[in-house]
Amino acid sequence: MKLKDLLRLLSSEANLQILSLLSTKAMNPRELARLLNRDESDVSRRLKVLEKAGLVEGKWTRVDGKNVRVYSLKVEELKIRFNPGEIRLEGRVEEYSIPVGFEDQRPGVSVFVGREKEIEELRRRKEPVLVVYGIAGIGKTALVAKAFPRALWYHVSGEEEVEYFFWRAGMLLQSIGYGELLEYLRSGGREEKTLLDLLKKGIEKTGPTIVIDDLHRCNDENLFRVLRLLGRELKRGRIVITSRVKPPVGVEGVFYLKLSGLRPEEAYNLALLKRGSISPEEFAELYRITRGHPLALNLIFESAPRGKSWSRENFFEFLFEEVYSSLTESEKTLLGIMALFSKPLEYEALKWMYPNKGLFPALHSLLTRGLIERIGDGYTVHEIIRSFVREVSNVSPEEYYHSYADYLLEKDSPEAFLKAFKYTIKAGDQTRLRELTELRLRKFREVVVEFPKTYMKILQEAGDNPYIEAEKAEIEFQRGFFEKAEEIWIRVMDRIEGIQRANVLTFLVDLYLEKEEIEKAEKYLKESRELAKELDNPLVWLWYQIEETKYLYYSGRVEEALESAFKELEFARRAKANPDTEALVFLHIGDILLTLNKPEEALEYYTKAKEVSEAYGISFRANIAYFEMAKAYYRLKRFREASEFARKAVNYFIRIRNYRRAVDSMAYLAVSLIGLGALEEAEEISQEMVKIGQATGYPLSWAGYIFLGALKNLKGEDGRGYFRLGREHLREKPWLYEAILNSLGRVLDIEQFQETFKPENQDE
Ligand code: ADP
Repeated sequence: MKLKDLLRLLSSEANLQILSLLSTKAMNPRELARLLNRDESDVSRRLKVLEKAGLVEGKWTRVDGKNVRVYSLKVEELKIRFNPGEIRLEGRVEEYSIPVGFEDQRPGVSVFVGREKEIEELRRRKEPVLVVYGIAGIGKTALVAKAFPRALWYHVSGEEEVEYFFWRAGMLLQSIGYGELLEYLRSGGREEKTLLDLLKKGIEKTGPTIVIDDLHRCNDENLFRVLRLLGRELKRGRIVITSRVKPPVGVEGVFYLKLSGLRPEEAYNLALLKRGSISPEEFAELYRITRGHPLALNLIFESAPRGKSWSRENFFEFLFEEVYSSLTESEKTLLGIMALFSKPLEYEALKWMYPNKGLFPALHSLLTRGLIERIGDGYTVHEIIRSFVREVSNVSPEEYYHSYADYLLEKDSPEAFLKAFKYTIKAGDQTRLRELTELRLRKFREVVVEFPKTYMKILQEAGDNPYIEAEKAEIEFQRGFFEKAEEIWIRVMDRIEGIQRANVLTFLVDLYLEKEEIEKAEKYLKESRELAKELDNPLVWLWYQIEETKYLYYSGRVEEALESAFKELEFARRAKANPDTEALVFLHIGDILLTLNKPEEALEYYTKAKEVSEAYGISFRANIAYFEMAKAYYRLKRFREASEFARKAVNYFIRIRNYRRAVDSMAYLAVSLIGLGALEEAEEISQEMVKIGQATGYPLSWAGYIFLGALKNLKGEDGRGYFRLGREHLREKPWLYEAILNSLGRVLDIEQFQETFKPENQDE
């Protein structure tokens, strides 16, 4: 490849983002696309080009009969050498850095005057949270962008809940090398305390400046709480906030800067930059009216110079009309379209909605007139101007909301889906909403789990519609509010058809199995089977089959459950289900085989689940597979392997703060270690389990006491005290106590400890 081509590749923001992400770990295109919020095929295409250029390296891994490509960085650094007569690119480099942003929201600063004092002050402050507040258009965003050109940006739109913020923050942190917050979210972790803790750790470890722009739009009190806590506790890294009103983020560790207009000499410089020259009288008059408000000044400089005095009444409106009347028709239309949206729109989105030839010149003209501004890849109408435009413009909001929703759906990502949903509601199109709920089931199932609050908030805007109600019920179900979910589903199910109905039916089966209302479960299972036949859609069959397996398993018909689980696999493949679902089905099969006491065969399926999850970077599922493998190996008395897999799972689950799973894995680690004779480590692990038990109360943690007792006995000491503690803590779960002893029985001769195992008080 020619040097020029290589440099061109490197000049693409998206490519740089990919390279930067790959420097954190090897990934497959699907995962990258998710992180970048881009279409997977676009990412694949870029990877291929980067691979050809020798910058990344793709490797095929064969997973369960399918080929999966995983990419890693091939060159960690590049050096450009300027020699007489040649420019050379070499593999090694000292310091050469440009910021790579992963948010498409950093504003571009072109013309900028003054504010040296404020910039210096902001940069100098030691508080972890800096707030710049002041009226609209006073220059907050411009100031912060200028003061912190490398900051990561988060633009508050007002629609999101705090969970959205955490996801975004997780992605930003992952992009600069801290993956634990994202990992925790991906694994389903939602505990606020942990989220905060991981966010704080991530910021402290990577030390970035994160800008939260337009915080006044936020109406989720939780976000303020997060920020107050960061102010109090953050040791490294910094959060910079802009807001129209002074936000309630506390006093400790927070510095507030109230921004007012430009100083006269600064405003004068702006006048010179924009106009070339200005008479002292005119300038004095302008400054008197605007008091240095930069947006107002910009607008004035765009309108014709005038001799007569400006009036202060409806000053903005007047100014705006002046500028607006000088626009061409296409400029007016474009401005009208843009004013419909409060978030920046990318060039591609504008092109989609305004496919006319004149887009580029119109955009350029609006930019130079100061009516719109550039924020990262996007363009937006300044807030105070927006309301004026909306008054005078005659573009049809519905038409463009529709069109924007279409554009977003092309992007094929959950976040874009949520936005598309919102705009479809705004366009008031009920039929379309129904189609979107179907799309959610087919492609974005995870939205309900990952963005429950945001999705709920969007759904609440939609008015009465059974399909929307069913979606709400699913969110309630995932949150654990079974009664509420049940009530809604039952109420609306007769008004729902198609795969949405199939979804409701299978969820009802699940719900009644959970509640152990077997007859009802049977009824809906039957209905669901009939509907599956009627629709004959592999995805629907898959849902049905998963419930059937569960039902059979719960009813003790394990052999039949196994058969059913194999059918799940068949449908998962036919439905081209995502890799996570496939891994899940492998795990089901493994579990059933283990129940049937076929650990070797179980192991085979657990291994498949492991391979699929690893290849697609689904760490949570991979670690569940490790845990299950540890279980199966333990059954086979292959303690070395058992301990290795259990240890991996323990480390992961501790890291993502999933203590239940961590303890489950620790239990297998401890007994395998006893099996191996590694008693010291087994003791450490057991103590760790007890500690977690004390913090969380999770019953299996108390197995730690029992292991400690057994370890004492093995050393020839008296372990009775520990056994007693274990038994006391498990008093309400005698079956668990038994199960733990049984498990130990595989590595120890329990008979030998008969005395101590026997409860001291038989009637306890
Ligand atoms: P806010 O965030 O307070 O609403 P912005 O930062 O968006 O305001 O600024 C409003 C307009 O004024 C923008 O067009 C911006 O480019 C311009 N502006 C703000 N500060 C300056 C400055 N110091 N020099 C030149 N232009 C500025």
